[in-house]
Amino acid sequence: MKRISIIGSTGSIGTQTLEIVRENKEYEVVALACGRNIELMERQMREFHPSFVAVGSEEDAASLRDATRDLGIPVGYGMDGLIKTAAWETADVTVTAIVGMIGVQPTLAAIEAGKDIALANKETLVTAGHLVMKAAAEKGVKILPVDSEHSAIFQSLQGNKGNRISRILLTASGGPFRGRTREELENVTLEDALKHPNWSMGQKITIDSATMVNKGLEVIEATWLFDVPPEKVEVLVQPQSIIHSAVEYEDGAVIAQLGTPDMKLPIQYALTWPERKYLAGERLDFTKLSAITLAQPDRKTFLGLDFAYRAAAEGGIIPTALNAANELAVADFLKKKIRFLDIYDRIAYAMDTAQKIDDPSIEDILAEEKAVGERLRAKFG
Ligand code: NAD
Ligand code: MG
Repeated sequence: MKRISIIGSTGSIGTQTLEIVRENKEYEVVALACGRNIELMERQMREFHPSFVAVGSEEDAASLRDATRDLGIPVGYGMDGLIKTAAWETADVTVTAIVGMIGVQPTLAAIEAGKDIALANKETLVTAGHLVMKAAAEKGVKILPVDSEHSAIFQSLQGNKGNRISRILLTASGGPFRGRTREELENVTLEDALKHPNWSMGQKITIDSATMVNKGLEVIEATWLFDVPPEKVEVLVQPQSIIHSAVEYEDGAVIAQLGTPDMKLPIQYALTWPERKYLAGERLDFTKLSAITLAQPDRKTFLGLDFAYRAAAEGGIIPTALNAANELAVADFLKKKIRFLDIYDRIAYAMDTAQKIDDPSIEDILAEEKAVGERLRAKFG
């Protein structure tokens, strides 16, 4: 029996994780946390009977407690509730399916409590990768990637321990605006940006895919997960999302993982590793594939990649400045307060104005998140 805690259980990754739990008798859910969707949380409580749940606000916690009085499950809230969920005593593995760098403290708390981490929440590795990987090594816990590309890389590394990696080939769909010029991006709408060609995901990562900031965050994520410098992570556009990523070894062999675009495979693999288990779903039919094409990303138009290579090279607090500015800008874009290309201006400004801090502590990281908000408000209103 594997006992699972999930932070972000009502989102895209969270609900797909619960679908896997539903199909597998050997998984038990012990704690769940979400932000605002308390109706869905109530249904999850009634189906999975966790020992603890948490929601975003105190008011929602009170409503949920009222609605589920018959279950007698304690309901927490806020950062305290997230940390309790992530580090829940009986959990073996914590799935970090929450969006944004709000996941940093709960993830560190889970590691501190000795939980393995099935990590979807890439913003945590981008901002606090040095702290997360160090704590995981000290505690002897595993960080198992859920992000499809990183799962593909992880799968391509199996059985190759000790062999030197010459490159990681990180694939990207290119998002809904692949092939467009900067001028053509000036007036794109929120609705256009939310139409991802291959994946149905939460809104924030969908916008990040359109700007290619997502791929940038994934470059940084890969440097931490696989201990490689950023120049060894090469991004390739693979519009059909069939090759999920690959590893090139020093003898020239390229090992890749291919499959239909379905997040359930990487989620399940993070839970079953080192084993594989049956997973229902569509299979690749190579005879019906019209093409698998590969191309260089357009880094002049989609600035997300250049920001990330620069942040990874500079290190320290700079990836936090990038990530925090992106989170704020995407939130404003989702509220239709700013235009698509404004996201890039805000990230560039936050990175340019960051004070250099090497080896930032958790306090430095959270302080920079706040400071980025202040700098952006002062500059852009
Ligand atoms: P989502 O928006 O669908 O879900 C986010 C979850 O986090 C929800 O349960 C929400 O309630 C919860 N949450 C948000 N703010 C919270 C708060 N303040 N307190 C408590 N809970 C809060 O997002 P998603 O698409 O599932 O993405 C989750 C993470 O996984 C992100 O880091 C994303 O980059 C990563 N990821 C997602 C996919 C995908 O297919 N969706 C693929 C790869 C990586
Ligand atoms: Mg991905």
